[in-house]
Amino acid sequence: MFGLYIHIPFCLKKCAYCDFNSITPQAGEVDRYLSALEKEIKGIPGLAGRDLATLYIGGGTPTLLSGEQFARLFACLRATFVFTGGMEITVEANPGTIDRAKAEELRHLGVNRISLGVQSLQDRFLARLGRIHSAADALTAMEILRNTGFDNLGADLIYGLPGQTVQDWQGDLAQLLEFRPEHLSLYALSIEAGTPFAQKEQDGRLSLPTEEEGIEMFRRAGAMTWESGYEHYEISNYALPGHDSCHNTRYWMMEEYYGAGAGAHSFLRRQLPVRFHNDPAPSDYTRKVERGESPVVERELLSRETFLSEAMMLGLRRRGGVKMEEFQKAYDVDPRKHFAGGLARAFREKWIEEVDGALRLTPEGVLFSNEVFVDLF
Ligand code: SF4
Repeated sequence: MFGLYIHIPFCLKKCAYCDFNSITPQAGEVDRYLSALEKEIKGIPGLAGRDLATLYIGGGTPTLLSGEQFARLFACLRATFVFTGGMEITVEANPGTIDRAKAEELRHLGVNRISLGVQSLQDRFLARLGRIHSAADALTAMEILRNTGFDNLGADLIYGLPGQTVQDWQGDLAQLLEFRPEHLSLYALSIEAGTPFAQKEQDGRLSLPTEEEGIEMFRRAGAMTWESGYEHYEISNYALPGHDSCHNTRYWMMEEYYGAGAGAHSFLRRQLPVRFHNDPAPSDYTRKVERGESPVVERELLSRETFLSEAMMLGLRRRGGVKMEEFQKAYDVDPRKHFAGGLARAFREKWIEEVDGALRLTPEGVLFSNEVFVDLF
């Protein structure tokens, strides 16, 4: 069994903070890309005919595809892989591209989970972010999805927005919690090089909340979600019981996944574990696949040391942490001893703790997780 990720690198318009692999497509580009994607999917060496554990269609804006384009993609996927009963099938959606017909088509195709990019529930912040939708659009999209029968909805929100106060953030989150999506991804805004936000910041035209305010927003998110019955099961992810993202959990558990499409990443546990990824430029990716060439541009065989460090890092991202006995059984290594040096600072600073046979980040450690992870390599 493996998880399959499909990348749709197209958006109607680029958001001001976004450095994801997405472009605004030219006429005919989406159909040409989908043909290449189908060709890549059918030709994945050694995976055709195997059982899928999870399917995740992300972007970009996958819901920019029409109903027919989705149907074509799913026909190819169902002809190539075995869809196991009850498997999680997620599609990322932008509220500006969801209507009743699209939601019904997705249900009809077997999609059972939608991850909706809400980002804020205040129009002035959405406008600053350059999003194509309003807060009302996001609420309407959630209503439509619920009324179409989606009982597993995820919503993304961003905090630390320019001009945002702690009260603004609390208001956004409170409004979203009223809707009770099964899953929440709450991200701190990060300013990425090459984006309009990075340029504004450089010019001193971006007034961001202070670091203390950012930390307070994170803490309030923890308290509010906890009071509403959500589990903070990964650094940025919160879920009602039984609704952790199965697909993303595969990443954190070092389980196999294949990524198809421009820039998509794969991890396969062959004789030596291997990570590789495709050409990120949609046009180059498409041309390569059309010519029968491999779209893979980089491949890394993981040494045992790197593999163990990654397993430790990804395990620590999860609230349950790294269960030491399981780690020892799986990799024949005592993590406490193996990472004694790498974890020394984290223990000293009380960023990590040992609880019931597991190593896990403390609430303070979650704030400094990048520091903890750097020391593991
Ligand atoms: S919708 Fe998402 S992927 Fe597309 S430009 Fe905006 S942030 Fe980037």
